[in-house]
Parts: sequence; C-alpha cells; structure tokens
Amino acid sequence: MKFDDFGLSDPILKALTEAGYETPTPIQAEAIPVALMGRDILGCAQTGTGKTASFTLPMIEALHNGRAKARMPRALILEPTRELAAQVAENFEKYGTHLKLSHALLIGGEFMAEQMKTLERGVDVLIATPGRLMDMFERGKIMMSDVKIFVIDEADRMLDMGFIPDVERIAGLLPRLRQTMLFSATMPPEIKRLADQFLMNPKSITVAPPASPAETVDQKKVRCGPRDKRRILRDIIRGEDIQNAIIFCNRKRDVDILVRSLKQHKFSVAALHGDMAQFKRMETLDEFKKGQVDILVASDVAARGLDIVTVSHVFNFDVPNHPDDYVHRIGRTGRAGRSGKSFTLVTEEDDKSVAAIERLMAKEIPELKIKSTEVPDKEASSETSSRSHKSRRNDQTVRSDKNQASSQRQNHETKRDFTSEPRVNNRSDSNRRRRRDFGDDGNRRTPWVEHPADIPGPQSFGKDNTPAFLLRPGRRVVAK
Ligand code: AMP
Repeated sequence: MKFDDFGLSDPILKALTEAGYETPTPIQAEAIPVALMGRDILGCAQTGTGKTASFTLPMIEALHNGRAKARMPRALILEPTRELAAQVAENFEKYGTHLKLSHALLIGGEFMAEQMKTLERGVDVLIATPGRLMDMFERGKIMMSDVKIFVIDEADRMLDMGFIPDVERIAGLLPRLRQTMLFSATMPPEIKRLADQFLMNPKSITVAPPASPAETVDQKKVRCGPRDKRRILRDIIRGEDIQNAIIFCNRKRDVDILVRSLKQHKFSVAALHGDMAQFKRMETLDEFKKGQVDILVASDVAARGLDIVTVSHVFNFDVPNHPDDYVHRIGRTGRAGRSGKSFTLVTEEDDKSVAAIERLMAKEIPELKIKSTEVPDKEASSETSSRSHKSRRNDQTVRSDKNQASSQRQNHETKRDFTSEPRVNNRSDSNRRRRRDFGDDGNRRTPWVEHPADIPGPQSFGKDNTPAFLLRPGRRVVAK
C-alpha cells in the first residue's frame, strides 16, 4: 500500500514525500481509510507506530477546505502531556505545510494571553492538555460547539495521570454528532468503559507494538561507587561517538546539579525537568533538536514520549525506581530504525532495581568495565593512605574501596562542589596550584574538579609514577 492509494490531496502527499515517508505504517494503512470515511476509531497502538499521522492526515484532509471561526475550533486533540501535545503540533505543521490550516497549542505553562489571542483569531485544530483546555473554557475563551473531530490520544496515560474526569467533562461539551478517535497503548477496563461511552460503532484497530527498545538498543551497565558517578559518566561520554544524548536522573534537584557539573567540564548540556517554565522547556528541546545542545539532562516526566531521532545515547545516571521507566528511558534512542546505545550507572544499592529491570526485559544487561581516563575519587583519596603510587598507577579501573580518608575527603568535596571561588589548598605549592587551576594543557580548569593537585598529602610525579591521564590529554568527544 502507498499513501497515493488513500486519495489524500496533493499538498498532503507532497508534504509526506518531503518528510521522507515512503509507505504507510500498519496503523496508518488500517486507520487512514476508515478515518477518511468519518468513522469512529478505537486504536490500540503505542508511540513509535506512526499513530499520530493516522489521525492527523485524515483530519487535515477533512478540514482543509473549510474556514476557521473565532473561538470555535473544528477539531480537538487531547494529549496527556505538554511535550506530547507539542510533538503532535509539530506533526500537524509538517503534514499541513502546503495548506492554510491553522492550529493552536493549548498547554499549561505557556502564556495564557497569547493563547487567548490565537483563539480569538480562530483556529481549525486545537491541540490541548485537558487542564488548560478546561481553564480556557471556564473563562469563556473557547466554544466547543463546532468541534467535528475529537481525538483522545494516549488514553491510558490520561488515566495514569488522573485526567479521565476532565476528559469526560470535555467530551460532554462537544456536539453529539462528531467523529471520535481514541488511541491507547493498552486497553484496561477503565479505557474500554470510556470507549463505550464516547465512540459510536468504532472500528477497532490493534497493531503490534514497535520492536521493544530492550531488543533494539545496545545496553550496558557500569558498576561504580556513588561518589564516582559523575566522573565515570564523563569518561563514558568522552569515549563514545555521541550525536545527541539524554541523561536521566531520578530527582529534579540532581538534574540541576549534574548540568552544572557537566558545564564545568565544558560539555554542551541543558536541563529538562518539570519545575522549569514551559517556554524554557520548549526552548531547550528546540535547541536540542537543532543540535545547539548535545546533551539533555532530564527527569522521567519531562522526557517521556520524546521522539527525537538524533538521540544516539541514553545514560541512566540513576537507576530508575520503576522497571517500566527504564524501558521508556532507553526507548528515547534507537528510534525510526536507527541504532542506539544506553549506559546505566549501577551502585551496590541499585542491585535490586537492576534485577527487577532484567526480570521485566527477561534478559541481563551486559556489564561494561571501563578504564578511566581521569583519576578516580577513590584513587585520589588513597593519596592519604599508605598505598604506593605504583600500585595506584596500575589500577585505573573503578573500585569501591571505602576508607576513612576517602569519605572525609568526599564530604569535604560535597560541601565544596560548585562554588565559584577556586579552592586554596593550604598544603599546595605553586606548581600544584598551577596544575590545579590550569591543567596540563594550560587551559583554565574548573576549580572544584577532582584533580590530583587538589588532594592533600605528598604529591610528586616522576618518570615512573606519572599517571596515564597526565601523559596524554583526555579525549573530549562532545565537550565544547
Ligand atoms: P508516532 O508513533 O506517531 O509518534 O511516530 C513515530 C515516528 O515515526 C515519528 O518520528 C514519525 O515522524 C515517524 N513516522 C510516522 N509515519 C511514518 C511513515 N509512514 N514512514 C516513516 N516514518 C514515519
């Protein structure tokens, strides 16, 4: 089957060719002809199957000859998250690029005044999250009486996020005579009930989920101590050929900390989490998509469902608390037939969570032992111990030996992290201070990093005991 076979208008076919789409995906092949007839659809399909085009293409076809009226949209698409709504809007723009249809994105966090102005001018399609839509409706800024096509996308996620009562209220405001399409990755009883309530004689379409990221993504776990994580992460990043990467942290606070740390190390990096203003989130995503930022450090919610084909790597700085989240996270790479890699930093405390993930995927994540290009914290801390330089030089792999001196130093480091003033080491001589502040390449270093010159105690490197990392500058793949 080809897109030409559906009877879509030339401007739409032209846009599809420009988007590089050659053949319809299974959900598109089944849903587009049915949707073009105006029939209701109950689609059981996940993101990654091409389901967005299966409802936006027939919608564009049905609406492109009519005209938008002020405050009265002709089609409504409900999405559970702002990011998904924005992604659908992007699809809409892509497929409708040669037509004059208008759309508005009605999502929380964006300036309401601007959204109101757009609605006032009149839009054909409204792409909204349920909360903001209800808000606008209650303010009298929008009328639903002209909505002819209604899409509830990702219905099971709406359920998870507690939006179903809002969705029911919104559906109650729409004309009874309309086309409704409901898509959901899974069909729990609550969603079936919703479908019975909203859909009239729907065509049920179920498509196989896209190949699981568990099969398509080259996954590795890397064992490390809790204090080694940032250094190990940097080492892996430098050793990889990264196009775009997402690093996941479990907590928003840690997202900010990691971003600051990576920036200190000259990586091109930005944060994405739910506490950021919506416009900032959008701006960051845009920069990431355009390649102006190489690495996003993100929380789960902010990065769920992101569809950016250039993401070559996913890093789990923290092992996620829920095994499902692991699959969602690594699924941000290896999209649209490209290859992807994931690395998960695992500490002793994470063993149970990793076992749960491996059970869910029914396969073990292979372990990668990395050789560090920076001096590990533990090694650095052992400067104060009685071990010889030679034995340290020969042992650059990650270890978890914990001695008292190490933890004292680490506590000290934690307090010192991210201060803008260079740390003055009482016991450092001028050479050590110069190495600390400027590094071996003569470039100014960030003041707080775990550099051997920062370490109290005897420190002289000679012919035999110079660590490898001082002999050759570290590789910086994405550092700018
Ligand atoms: P979706 O499941 O709608 O989120 O789509 C997943 C990805 O597949 C998006 O990047 C789409 O742009 C892409 N896509 C959708 N339909 C096609 C198609 N027929 N051919 C190639 N790529 C497609």
